[in-house]
Amino acid sequence: MRLYLDVDGTLLRRGGHARLRGDLAPAFNLRPFLQWATDTYDCAWLTSRNRDGCNKAIRATFRQAIGPGDEADAVDSLLARVSPTCWPEYKAQAIDFTTPFLWLDDAPEEESLARLEQHGTTASWIPVAVDQRPDDLSRVMEVLGKGAK
Ligand SMILES: [Mg+2]
Repeated sequence: MRLYLDVDGTLLRRGGHARLRGDLAPAFNLRPFLQWATDTYDCAWLTSRNRDGCNKAIRATFRQAIGPGDEADAVDSLLARVSPTCWPEYKAQAIDFTTPFLWLDDAPEEESLARLEQHGTTASWIPVAVDQRPDDLSRVMEVLGKGAK
């Protein structure tokens, strides 16, 4: 099954004291989540940071959010397992509706939600909100871990 991943508000959160500067921090349990997600699913990006099929900017953003060190290297090697996508106007244009999928995102655009509805796949969107709940990825792993691959 394919798992589409948003970045901002889903894997990275606007962090504590840095909020006013717009700085990002990793969600809690980011590395175990990425390990589990890339082991379990065929993962693809669905983020406004790479609508052109390039993942360099995404990987740089995570490095900056995590800071230098082994953790950033370990996360980066997991990020490399996520496929880039292309979409011209809204995220759901990159979704392959011929394949079962799940999509983790804090705030899909209305056009994307309409497209899911057209295809009868509204339930494939799993809302995540690490800005409000920094450990929300643990909940997602628990919920999806009970389902089939
Ligand atoms: Mg987002």
